[in-house]
Amino acid sequence: MTTPTNDQLCEWDRAHYWHSFTPMADYEPWVIARAEGSTLYDIEGKAYLDAASSMWCAALGHNHPRVSAAVVEQLGRMAHCTSLGMGADVAVRLAKRLADLAPGDLQHVFFSSDGSSAVEVAMKQALQYWRQCERPQPAKTKYLAFGEAYHGDTIGATAVGGIGRYHDVFGPILCEVIRVDPPDSRKLPPPGGEGWGGGMNPATRFAPPPRTPPHQGEGNRMAEGECAAALARVEAVLAEQADTIAAVIVEPLVQCAAGMLMHPPGFLSGLRQLCDKHDVLLIADEVAVGFGRTGKLFACNHEEVVPDFLCLGKHLTAGYVPMAATLTTPRLYEAFLNRNATEDRTFWHGHTYSGNALAAAAAMATLDEFESGLLDGLPARIAHLGERLCHLAADPLVEHARQRGMIAAFNLTEPIGRQIGRYAMDHGVWLRAKDDLVYVMPPLNIEAGDLDRIFDVISEGLESGT
Ligand code: PLP
Repeated sequence: MTTPTNDQLCEWDRAHYWHSFTPMADYEPWVIARAEGSTLYDIEGKAYLDAASSMWCAALGHNHPRVSAAVVEQLGRMAHCTSLGMGADVAVRLAKRLADLAPGDLQHVFFSSDGSSAVEVAMKQALQYWRQCERPQPAKTKYLAFGEAYHGDTIGATAVGGIGRYHDVFGPILCEVIRVDPPDSRKLPPPGGEGWGGGMNPATRFAPPPRTPPHQGEGNRMAEGECAAALARVEAVLAEQADTIAAVIVEPLVQCAAGMLMHPPGFLSGLRQLCDKHDVLLIADEVAVGFGRTGKLFACNHEEVVPDFLCLGKHLTAGYVPMAATLTTPRLYEAFLNRNATEDRTFWHGHTYSGNALAAAAAMATLDEFESGLLDGLPARIAHLGERLCHLAADPLVEHARQRGMIAAFNLTEPIGRQIGRYAMDHGVWLRAKDDLVYVMPPLNIEAGDLDRIFDVISEGLESGT
């Protein structure tokens, strides 16, 4: 095949490439040729800052020398071997390392290829656990999930999702899920450092409100009130139906796809307590927020919560090779061990690429990078992101500015997100902006100048009245 021209590439893209989450009737081909650091370059050579970390996975930016070298080195030894009854040495080392890093006794690691599958694994393991644990409760087949939740697009993950557009049409093939309203983050004032947990963790700051600053004590009380109200909704369901509920599933601290909906402090630990009280398992889906995004290695670390399942993806390999993982505890794992020759308690589930060696090598190099200064440097970057967000929050078009770690988001008083996104594209920033929402979720190691550029462009876009 001869090398296509750029026009041909665009033509083929339009004709043959059905893109994810993309209304194809309106699709305008945008073909990326290479990427370096926080910048994507399209086939015309135009540069775009990647303000969404390539959908939240490029933790270290692109073409990071350490990760690229690790993948190439691994490729020279072995690209892949199955995880059925065997495993790549590098995947074994990764499993041990994840077990060492994870909160509490999350010692057992099941690898898969994407975040949806990591959630699917947790859901299936939870259900099977209740059938074969010491005191089986086979009626526990439902899940409690939150409104506006997003856990991926396989069938189980779709079922526990709460965003109608992704979910409703598939209703007939989805399992039974009880959906509870999450805490209403709009009811919470965004006082700088207070109320939302700023005092809990120096890496967690919230932009001061653009108008009517609430009294800090009042902010705390409102956050506590909203947290208590949401937990009460969960408890009401568990009190009635725990004997039919296998697990509660939650996106710890931030429901990203819901529009960066941030939970008040205490919500996650409150959920843990309720799950313990009512004998229901807790699945923490950290696919989007794990590995540094919230300022700590795991979001669960902020509230010292040990879930029964921890789902990881995205940052796990910094976006280099697809991989995800579901971690669980000995209590859960042991229920899957056969106790005699006639018993079959095996978890009959797996993916061709589970434990892929290239992905494991990318993950090991990513963790090396985290441990050699990236995590320590995060508070300064988070503070910089917060400063820029605070500045923006003064714009009369901006409301509900909020930040958790390296996630900054705000709403617009008018639904001009699309126009802001278009303006940013025209000015070399790829920004996720739609309806009345804009957020910035850059690579964790973004250069200060690149971060400033992203915010300058957003400010200019707002000023230009796009
Ligand atoms: N869980 C959460 C919280 C997510 O944000 C996502 C993706 O955005 C997923 C699961 C699904 O991950 P993947 O797209 O890798 O299947």
